[in-house]
Amino acid sequence: MTTSIIGYPRIGAHRELKFATEKFFRQELSEAGLQAVAAEQRKENWQKQAAAGIDFIASNDFSFYDTTLDTAFALNIIPKRYQNLAISPLEKYFAAARGHQSEVGDVKALAMKKWFNTNYHYMVPEFDDGTTIQLDLTKLLSEYREALALGITTKPVLIGPFTLLKLIRFTGQTQISDVQNELVRAYAEILSQLVTEKVEWLQLDEPALVFDLTTEDISLFKAIYADLLPQKQTVKILLQTYFGDVRDIYTDLIQLDVDGIGLDFVEGRKTAELIATHGFPTDKKLFAGVVNGKNIWRNDYQKTLDILATLPKASVVIGTSCSLQHVPYTVNAESELSQDILRHFAFAEEKLLELKDLNDIFCHGQEDSLTANQVLFAAKRYQGNRAVQSKVAALGDADFTRTPDFSERENVQKAIFQLPKLPTTTIGSFPQTADVRKNRLNFKRGEISKAEYDTFNQEKTKDWIKWQEQVGFDILVHGEFERNDMVEYFGEKLDGYIFTKNAWVQSYGTRCVKPPIVWGDIARIQSLTVEDAVYAQSLTDKTLKGMLTGPVTILNWSFPREDISLKVSTLQIALAIQEEVLDLEQNGIKIIQIDEAALREKLPLRQTDWHSEYLDWAIPAFRLVHAKVAPETQIHTHMCYSEFTDIISAIDAMDADVISFEASRSDLSILDALQANGFRTQNGPGVYDIHSPRIPSVGEIQDVIRRILTKVPVEKLWINPDCGLKTRGVAEVKASLENLVKATQGIRSEL
Ligand code: GLN
Ligand code: ZN
Repeated sequence: MTTSIIGYPRIGAHRELKFATEKFFRQELSEAGLQAVAAEQRKENWQKQAAAGIDFIASNDFSFYDTTLDTAFALNIIPKRYQNLAISPLEKYFAAARGHQSEVGDVKALAMKKWFNTNYHYMVPEFDDGTTIQLDLTKLLSEYREALALGITTKPVLIGPFTLLKLIRFTGQTQISDVQNELVRAYAEILSQLVTEKVEWLQLDEPALVFDLTTEDISLFKAIYADLLPQKQTVKILLQTYFGDVRDIYTDLIQLDVDGIGLDFVEGRKTAELIATHGFPTDKKLFAGVVNGKNIWRNDYQKTLDILATLPKASVVIGTSCSLQHVPYTVNAESELSQDILRHFAFAEEKLLELKDLNDIFCHGQEDSLTANQVLFAAKRYQGNRAVQSKVAALGDADFTRTPDFSERENVQKAIFQLPKLPTTTIGSFPQTADVRKNRLNFKRGEISKAEYDTFNQEKTKDWIKWQEQVGFDILVHGEFERNDMVEYFGEKLDGYIFTKNAWVQSYGTRCVKPPIVWGDIARIQSLTVEDAVYAQSLTDKTLKGMLTGPVTILNWSFPREDISLKVSTLQIALAIQEEVLDLEQNGIKIIQIDEAALREKLPLRQTDWHSEYLDWAIPAFRLVHAKVAPETQIHTHMCYSEFTDIISAIDAMDADVISFEASRSDLSILDALQANGFRTQNGPGVYDIHSPRIPSVGEIQDVIRRILTKVPVEKLWINPDCGLKTRGVAEVKASLENLVKATQGIRSEL
């Protein structure tokens, strides 16, 4: 048996790549300087894997922004609007990732979507009618050589042709069938260049195989590989899947002339059964993803060994269930947590060692690490919270139903709030400028008092409230200056959570998150936001929108427990947030937004499992949070950067009064779904993309509003940006929002 890594984190153990890239964006670091930091990160990753004795080490898993974007660029699937800019290739790449606005041009970014069921976001490649696929393998080859120069032989990784085709957005008349042959030719060309390079293994990632596959999908997949595989010559191909099982195509997969197949035994509920039923061919290696690549808990060796024991020993290579990019670098960077806690965790580096241990136990009968692992799992990790457990157990139907029903509340609220047509608001956060972050850091380090810290944030809120009033927003927000992150902030105040110092995970591009860890039963032991909301409301006669994160998002953006169900964990959090909602209401906050940005994240990838495995408890968990508020209190929610169209009725069933959506970056594709489903909840599809520094003009925003008005009834429509503004600069935010309000006022006068 041997060991394999699908991919490794790339942002740097101390986010070196993130900081260097952001410096490059601000023109404080040259391209050569950025390349040097990148090379250093790659080197450290390879050396870590080599030192741990990993046999199959990944390369080309590195990315300056996103590996799907890298793959698109390697194939020249690059819209003309980026190609035509007179800037360097790397800058064009970043232009596609984040948009570009300068003397040389003004272009929007590609759409961004959540990567399968993770909180990582990929760039959606756009295929225009004029696009011709053309191979440029420079990045892959140079990274392979770079590792080789360090004495490390790697297995380069690429998104496979099937998954790529499924992810591409065709903007014109071109369809998959028109480009399929051309694409296979390009992948064949990749293989032949790898032969010249003497590369032994190529990993083709085909996670799209874990979806429900149609007969067309299956024929497409088979056709692609039937064309491609005869051209592989001496290069061995690992067909790597993850995030689920491949039940719809397993029997076809095992007949392919590939040299290895990577299967997920963690999220793939049926993987073991598929092998037991249909066998696994002796001429291929089985890359068994048995160590969870998405969560941070230690692997239970005995359980894993039990799985491994059912597999054909001679063929097995052990690995993680998916790329380790979804977990932080190392537990060793957490000096403030006790060993008692840390010994339960395995981040990327520790997972390398787990693979090594498992290999040693399984192949060489070295039982020491097994015994230690069994001791760890036998001990009771913590004392539970009985009160919370019984509250969850006692929940009944009425707890999940808000009364009176939606339309009655809508009337009551229209009478109270007296808002103009097309009410304007924002999603919550304003720029987290350097001074805001510094204030937080100073407080964390104990350099300033709590009072000084609060005063600073209050001054910020005061400035922004005044600014929102001047510009003419209808519903105001306090700006979220006290929040490092929309989940961590809440986790820190709730009982049952554990926090890390350095456990960063890439969310998209240079943006990283530090998910808190659900350690025990969750309970609210203090107010979470009441003070800030009440203060902000005291500054204005306009209505202030309180701002919370919803239970599903809190859970989905945390590292969850593995010893109780996600449902129970989420209901615990929902009860805590419900207490906060009622507390805000009691303190005079009339509108409360409960963000569910990550609602879709743990939606099973297979549609057949959506309701039974997820929506049937996730939607009620949200309803639980606001079921007890008065009809006069308006509940908002917000969602972004995922596909909503196919779960639109579940979203309506959350029974919020108003919802804001990310929409402009995915080209308003949500509107048809809203219309088709007679969407009842009032809604604000975002009128401009906030993940880009460019400033939308008044005319541009008005065009968007007019387009929205063709699909959304004017009485239902709110005007807001796509998402929170914390990652943006002050000047661009002010200019953009002024345009948003002006655009709205203009349209109102036309109505
Ligand atoms: N209220 C949050 C903010 O404005 C929402 C963030 C999000 O949707 N990701 O930052
Ligand atoms: Zn958002």
